[in-house]
Amino acid sequence: MGSNDHAVVLGGGMAGLLTARVLTDVYERVTIVERDPLPTHVASRRGVPQDRHVHGLLPGGAQVMEELLPGLLDGIEAEGAPVIRDYAEYYCSPAGHLLSREAQPGVPHYLSSRPYLEHHIRARVRALPNIEIIDQCDAVNLVTTETRDRITGVRIQRRTDDSQEETLEADLVVDAMGRGARTPAWLAELGYNRPDEDELVIKVECSSQLIRLPPNPIPEKAVVVGARPGRPTSGGLVLQENGAWLLTATGRLGLRPPTDFKARLDFVGDFMPPHVMAAIRNAEPIGEVATFRFPANRWRHYERLRNFPEGLLVAGDALCSFNPIYAQGMSVAALQAAALRDCLNRGTHDLPRRFFRVAATPLGMVWQLASGADLALPEVEGPRPLPLRLFNSYVGRLQAKAEHDPVLAAQFIRVAFLVDPPTQLLRPATALRVMTGKQRRMAPASTTEGTSGSRVQT
Ligand SMILES: Cc1cc2nc3c(=O)[nH]c(=O)nc-3n(C[C@H](O)[C@H](O)[C@H](O)COP(=O)(O)OP(=O)(O)OC[C@H]3O[C@@H](n4cnc5c(N)ncnc54)[C@H](O)[C@@H]3O)c2cc1C
Repeated sequence: MGSNDHAVVLGGGMAGLLTARVLTDVYERVTIVERDPLPTHVASRRGVPQDRHVHGLLPGGAQVMEELLPGLLDGIEAEGAPVIRDYAEYYCSPAGHLLSREAQPGVPHYLSSRPYLEHHIRARVRALPNIEIIDQCDAVNLVTTETRDRITGVRIQRRTDDSQEETLEADLVVDAMGRGARTPAWLAELGYNRPDEDELVIKVECSSQLIRLPPNPIPEKAVVVGARPGRPTSGGLVLQENGAWLLTATGRLGLRPPTDFKARLDFVGDFMPPHVMAAIRNAEPIGEVATFRFPANRWRHYERLRNFPEGLLVAGDALCSFNPIYAQGMSVAALQAAALRDCLNRGTHDLPRRFFRVAATPLGMVWQLASGADLALPEVEGPRPLPLRLFNSYVGRLQAKAEHDPVLAAQFIRVAFLVDPPTQLLRPATALRVMTGKQRRMAPASTTEGTSGSRVQT
């Protein structure tokens, strides 16, 4: 077998598909092994239970996906994905600050359900000539050389009657099996150290439901309200490709949004703006409520391991996963795929070490944004070194100013959308706008948020 003959990607979720796409440029054949039966239409999957909750595609991630799969964004729009180009259609209130409604970040924001986006990406990846997708098939274990310094394949088991375990030989195996990925345990079985893990416990609880609203019920296509100190609840209402709206309510630190429709309206009524509440109070619920628990942000530091077998990579949530509230996971999977593409441009020699090192840069940036924002809530326990406290205090001031400064609001959104790096927030021109003029104090929740007046019971 030649050294670039066959690559196998374990997991056909967002990271698996995008990674496989990149590998098709270099490997003769690329095989995706996926446990679920993969639908040929838009449908939720058991292996991706989070796909029933709001899945924002951040423009920074969308741009990378378009590079990897040209025509993707026009394609999803043509088939019905709503797009925000005028940000009057975007209501964004992070940390208790409603950002200026005049902000124009200058990037299109594509909206759709997760199954819809995954369906379109999967169809494009499936159409590549050197891709094979084996679905209904479990990845069971790695196969190595006798010396265990190189992975040479993977043991798989098809989910069909009477099937026996079989070996898929491969020059490269990529673990993209999501947060429950097996690589740490597999490494330990092979005598390697497990990676160090950074973990920030946030105990996020999501509850989501599709709803039907009358035509043009509100001027926005997406409404996003974040948590604020003293109120660890948040939510989003996002127009979907089929004209329905997806309402996700979220609590942190074990605070669970009610699953009963009326009680959930009271829950979101605590922070959603009055015009949105007026619309959703008359909504017609569609289908079942979906719930999800997300315990902690977790980053597995493979880049720190001194010994790691050749022929093995880890990607997507298996490498690093973040508080879903910030909508970063799919975009980070795309940024990792781009990092892999850049590494492969310099060949496959020493690939794991080079990939983990290069991927650590975007991961570090997004980790800083997500965990920094989580730690801005006093309710979240975790280390707050001085640089983080200073940065968070600066960002808090910026957000307060951005209520009335569309330039600051647009800059903040571009960073949150992973279009610009966080360092853009510290540019002299931005810092000057943040630091000069009167600091407005955050208005009490009762005047800026919510209509119901009902307080959330913990
Ligand atoms: C509630 C919630 C809301 C979210 N909202 C957003 C959002 O708004 N925007 C955003 O960008 N991200 C969001 N995310 C994060 C996003 O869902 C993930 O970051 C993204 O799906 C990661 O992709 P992945 O391919 O690594 O993992 P997954 O998408 O989870 O895919 C893993 C795949 O591996 C398969 N698999 C598992 N084990 C095996 C096995 N043994 N053999 C074969 N296959 C296997 C699974 O079936 C699955 O298909 C959200 C997450 C949650 C929990």
